[in-house]
Amino acid sequence: MTGTPFRLRPGLRVLARDVDAVQVGQDPRWAVVLDSLTPAEVATWARVDEATDLTALPAAAQHAGADPARVRELVGALHAAGLVRPDPPRARLVRGPTAADAAAWSLLRADAAGEDVVRSRADAVVGVVGLGPTGAGTARLLAAAGVGTLLLDDDGTVRSPDVAGGAHRWSDVGAPRPTALRRVLRDVAPDVRVDGDAEPDVVVVVEPDAADPARGALLTASGVPHLSVVVRAADALVGPFVRPGTADPCLRCLDLHRADADTAWPRVLAGTTAGRDDASRRGAPRPGEVGVLAAACAALASAQVLALLAGTVPLLCGTTAEIALPDVVPRLRPWTPHPDCGCAAPPAAGTATVRTGGTAGTSGTAGTVAAATTGTTTPGPARTRHAGPGVGV
Ligand SMILES: [Zn+2]
Repeated sequence: MTGTPFRLRPGLRVLARDVDAVQVGQDPRWAVVLDSLTPAEVATWARVDEATDLTALPAAAQHAGADPARVRELVGALHAAGLVRPDPPRARLVRGPTAADAAAWSLLRADAAGEDVVRSRADAVVGVVGLGPTGAGTARLLAAAGVGTLLLDDDGTVRSPDVAGGAHRWSDVGAPRPTALRRVLRDVAPDVRVDGDAEPDVVVVVEPDAADPARGALLTASGVPHLSVVVRAADALVGPFVRPGTADPCLRCLDLHRADADTAWPRVLAGTTAGRDDASRRGAPRPGEVGVLAAACAALASAQVLALLAGTVPLLCGTTAEIALPDVVPRLRPWTPHPDCGCAAPPAAGTATVRTGGTAGTSGTAGTVAAATTGTTTPGPARTRHAGPGVGV
């Protein structure tokens, strides 16, 4: 730990916890408690923030009257707990709208390389099909998150109900949706590319009432990962996220399961999606999408796409999030591949994972990480323990 500065991962704070204890971090997935500290050690840790070079902390602690060996031991324990990282090269640092995103991914990634996660988005190509409030909101969030290219697909024009989601503007009513949205995207991300013929890395498909089986089959056959979002009058389904060639159930799997439960489903589905793009068969104008529902779906869909681009397996692979008004609180429904579909392949290897905590040990000696089972501290040598659920602030 000499030479290269080491600091707390971005976003971690040291919080006073007791007369002889401090807590590092608040998220129970990785927060730990340093306890059995002397007053001088508490004072030392209270001055630590993410700008503090922890390699120099033992010497600074000695000046404050603390035992540098004990402080060095606790710094080592924070290393072991994965809460410390070396300074990234200055050229890799991320500033501006995505700085918080980079900090969050620095916490989520085992290698703490949140800046790399955000920077790599500039090379990503994401397609968004269906540019009503949900699709437009998704595209806007992805552009603001640094996705380099967004391919926009919608034949419609902006209507006044489209303003509900907050992405389309009154001044764009009557304009083609893609044209209007390109202006919005360039407002939040001036460098975003919104045209070209690049193959998408992932496609978000936003559809009313039900997912079109033909479109889903086409996307599965093309091998492009795709996320289905279905928006209905008072609820929406986000997911599943389908990664063709993996063990994920596809959209056809879901329809086969639904047909098993309700033999009329194929007919209902056909009636729901037939003539969707035929203006002469649309009948009465649709009332549009509810703003808070569209915003919730857009946030969830965008997060899932960004999780995929970060190399993780998005939670909605094999799962739908059912988001219903008035609460707009997602409820998850898992799905399995349908045996009659034949789409699923064995699980792929090599995907990254995000940190989920649970690195707890049991030793009570200095420099270890132990699970917290109560809110009390244990007399003895200074040590760390995991600040598990129930002790987060
Ligand atoms: Zn399938």
